[in-house]
This record gives sequence, structure tokens and C-alpha cells, in this order.
Amino acid sequence: MKITFPHMGHLHVPLRSFFSRLGVETVVPPPISQETMAFGTRYAPEFACLPLKVNVGNFLQAARLGADTVIMAGGIGPCRFGYYAQVEQEILRDLGVDLKMVVLEPPQGHWRELWHNLRAITGRASLKEIWRAGRLAWRKLTALDELERELHRVRAREVTPGDASRAWRQIVDWLDQAETLSETEEAAHLGRAHLAAIPLREDDDVLRVGIVGEIYTLLEPAVNLEVERVLGEMGVEVERSIYLSDWVKTNLVLHSLHLRNDREEYRLAAPYLGHFVGGHGLESISFTIRYARSGFDGVIQLAPLTCMPEIVAESILPKVSRDMGIPVITFMLDEHASEVGMRTRLEAFCDLLRERRRQKKRSQRAKELLP
Ligand code: SF4
Repeated sequence: MKITFPHMGHLHVPLRSFFSRLGVETVVPPPISQETMAFGTRYAPEFACLPLKVNVGNFLQAARLGADTVIMAGGIGPCRFGYYAQVEQEILRDLGVDLKMVVLEPPQGHWRELWHNLRAITGRASLKEIWRAGRLAWRKLTALDELERELHRVRAREVTPGDASRAWRQIVDWLDQAETLSETEEAAHLGRAHLAAIPLREDDDVLRVGIVGEIYTLLEPAVNLEVERVLGEMGVEVERSIYLSDWVKTNLVLHSLHLRNDREEYRLAAPYLGHFVGGHGLESISFTIRYARSGFDGVIQLAPLTCMPEIVAESILPKVSRDMGIPVITFMLDEHASEVGMRTRLEAFCDLLRERRRQKKRSQRAKELLP
């Protein structure tokens, strides 16, 4: 069996580690490229969400490299994610591509089904071996997320644009190559040192922008046109509402154990949205409020075109923006989105944020001068 899975940010690092450690041959699809997009848009339905199209492109490229089995997450809720795997399977079948699809659903108490699916992939691996492989993969994932947060801080302040992005590519490689827990710790340590060695500007007048929206668009740089890098190189520090390790912990672990606690998200969003709308629509509202309360300069919402939960959020965000006094800009992305177009809008948005900051400082100084 040669398994593959869709790309989503640095997800391939823990997944490759997990399955390779259990002796399962893994084919990581080539990085998302024009060809990936072309495959996806040619073979997926026109109005399918962009992530589905990119997944199809990933699978076709991986099949060409010899993959015969796809591991795909399943889902529940009012959006289309729940039937992604079935639609993708139909598309592959129609194309005559011989890829078996194994869908790993969030367990929600049905541990036996998850165990059965895992055994179908990992063969004779014992529970202990699966636990150890999972522990290594989890540590890689948390290390990547910790270092990515630091990357965002450093990139906004680097003296030479591009230093932090180069360091990040090296860090992902180190963590990908680590084979044991101690090698992973060493790679994480090296990664921290690598970022710490980057010369930073002395002024600390960077803008702080929160990024909210649909998980795939947030996590996959090839789909969001590397918005975090572009902003970082403009001197903007970004914070994302979703990191993969937080998502795994909340949705796969705590949710399955009935320990998930979304009360704070619902409480914050309640004046604007009183119920779950699928995906991360509700979190887009609650995190915008959090960012406004934490003094962020602005918020960017990212989503694939036609993403229902984020369309709901988009229609509410102008009111949140007015009430909370925080500028919000939305990017609905599809396969035709271009970095040039996005960069132009981002530059205008950042100019606006800088001007607001200057105005705030001026009025603060004026207040201080008043008798
Ligand atoms: S969250 Fe949006 S992009 Fe993701 S499956 Fe649902 S509708 Fe599609």
C-alpha cells in the first residue's frame, strides 16, 4: 500500500512521520502548483469549493507518483466538507484513476470505526506502536506551530526581507527529517536559534493584523497566495485564528471525549450570530471581536469563493467592524486569484491602518496636552 493525502500547510510533516513510522509507504503530493490547480479545475465541478479542487489535483499528482490509497478526513455539519471524500472518490473513479479512499471521520464516541480504518492502513501495528507514532507526529506538529508563531513575529521586523522565510523552509526540513522525539526536540531547538539569529529592526512600530476565515485557506500558503509572507515583508505581524495543532486538539481529541468547550466563542459571537453555521464561520466573528479587544490594528478574512459559512460571516463582519472600531477586509479566493491583485489591496489596507494609528496617536497627544 502506498498512501497519500491532501496538502494543507505543513500537515504533510506529521502525517508522513506518523505513517512512515508505522511502516506504511507514503507518497507526499508535489507542492501545490499551477498544474495542481489546472487538474482540480478541469475535473472538479465548477462551483465546488477551492479546497476540493486542490485536493483532486493533489491526488492525481500523487497517483502519478505511484500512490494507490488516499487518506482523507471526513466531517459533519452544515457545510460541504462532509461529502468531500465521496465527491472526490466519484471524480477519481470517473477518470479511471485507481485510488482507494480511506475516510477517517472524527470519532465522536465511535472509536471502533476509527480503529478499524487505522488498522486497514497500518496492518499489524499494535496500539502501542500507533501511540508512539502519534506522539512523534504530534510533537512535530506542535513544534511547527510554535515556530510559525515566532516566524510571524520575526518576519515583521527583519532587516533583510526574505531572511525569515528562508529560515522557515530550513526549519520545516529539519523537523520533517527528524526520526525520533529527541531529534525533533533538537530540530525545534535549532529552529528557535535560527530565527533568533535573524537581525531585526530596532523600531517596533509594526502593525498587528488578525487573520480569520476558513481553515484550509488560512493554512495553505499556495491557496492564500502566501498572504502571511506578503504581510510580514510589509512589516505587519500576523496572528491566525487557527493553528493546525489547536484544531486537532479541539476537534479530534477534546470533541471526541466530549470535552470540547466552545462556550467562549458562542458567547462572543452571540450579539451577531446565535448558532453554528458550519466550518469556522462563527469563529470568524468571535476572533474578530477578540482581536479588536486585544488592540489589533485590523482583521483579514480569508475564504474560498462560495464558502457558505464564511459568506455568512462576511455579511456580519461589517457590523462587527463598526461596533468594535476595527477595519476588516475580506478576500474570497478562487483559482483565478492573483498575488498582484491581493498585494494591491493589502497595501491600501495597511496604509489605512497606519493612518488610523497615526491619528490615534495624535488625538492621544492632544488629550495629554489639555489642561
Ligand atoms: S468550510 Fe467552506 S470551503 Fe470548507 S467545505 Fe465548507 S463550504 Fe467548502
